[in-house]
Amino acid sequence: MPEGDTVYRTARLLDRSLSGQVLTATDFRVPQHATADLAGGTVVETVSRGKHLLTRVDRGTERWTLHTHLKMEGSWKVLTPHQRWPRPAQTARVVLETGTAVAIGFSLGIVELLDRAAEDDVVGHLGPDLLGPDWDEEVALRHLAAEPDRPVRASLLDQTNLAGIGNMYAAELCFTSGVHPETPVGAVPDLRRLVRRAHQMLLLNKERPHQSTTGDLRERERMWVYRRDKSPCRRCGTPVVVEMQGPAGRERASYWCPSCQPLLGARASS
Ligand SMILES: [Zn+2]
Repeated sequence: MPEGDTVYRTARLLDRSLSGQVLTATDFRVPQHATADLAGGTVVETVSRGKHLLTRVDRGTERWTLHTHLKMEGSWKVLTPHQRWPRPAQTARVVLETGTAVAIGFSLGIVELLDRAAEDDVVGHLGPDLLGPDWDEEVALRHLAAEPDRPVRASLLDQTNLAGIGNMYAAELCFTSGVHPETPVGAVPDLRRLVRRAHQMLLLNKERPHQSTTGDLRERERMWVYRRDKSPCRRCGTPVVVEMQGPAGRERASYWCPSCQPLLGARASS
C-alpha cells in the first residue's frame, strides 16, 4: 500500500516526463474507457491529492482529467519509446505516449477519465493533504478529535480525516507517540504532536529514494516497528508484534512494541 509521499513522487515523475507534451497515442485498458483516445491532447500537469493522481490533459476546448490510484499493487513507469516494459503487458491499465516518453500505469486500482470540472467528485471527500497546498493542521485535528472513541490507527488511515497516511506511517506514528494502535483517539496524550510529526515524516521522505522514520537510511534500520515483527524493539528490546486489525475484509497488518506502546484509555462505550 503506497504512502502519500510515494504517490507524490509518482506525480512528480509523471509531471516532469509528460507536462507540456502532446500525446501521440493513448491506450485505456479498462472496460469503461476502452474506446477513449486522448491523442492530440497536451498534458498540462500531474498533481497528487492524498493518494490520488490527477493528470490533466487539454485538447482544443476539451478539459480532461485522468484520475488514477495505485491502491495495493499499482505503479506508474516512464520509459523511452522502445524500452522494454518492466512488468507484464497484461497488467498495464493505461498507456500514454508522447514523442519522447511512454508512461505506463501497471495494476492501477482506479483508472477514470473525467471532465476536469468533476475532479471534486473523486477527491473532494479527502481531508487536508499532508503534502498538498491545502494542508491544514487545525482541520485535520478537528476531524480526528470528532471521533474520540475510534482507534487512533484506523483514524489516521481514514483519508477523509487527513490524506496521505498508509499502513507504514500509521504504525510508525503510533510508535513514536508511545501509544498502542488500538488506543482511542481521545486518549492519545498529544494528538497535535502526532499530526505534526506525520507532516514532518512525509515532507522529509518525499525527497528520499527510500523512506525512513528513524532518520537512519541503512536498509534494515529505517523503521521503528513496521515489518519488524519478532525483531527487538529499538528502544527497549522487547520483540515487536504484528496482528491483523481493521474492519472485516479490510484488515491490515498492525505492528507495535508491547512495552513502549501501552493501550491507553478505556472505550467510552463501556
Ligand atoms: Zn519497545
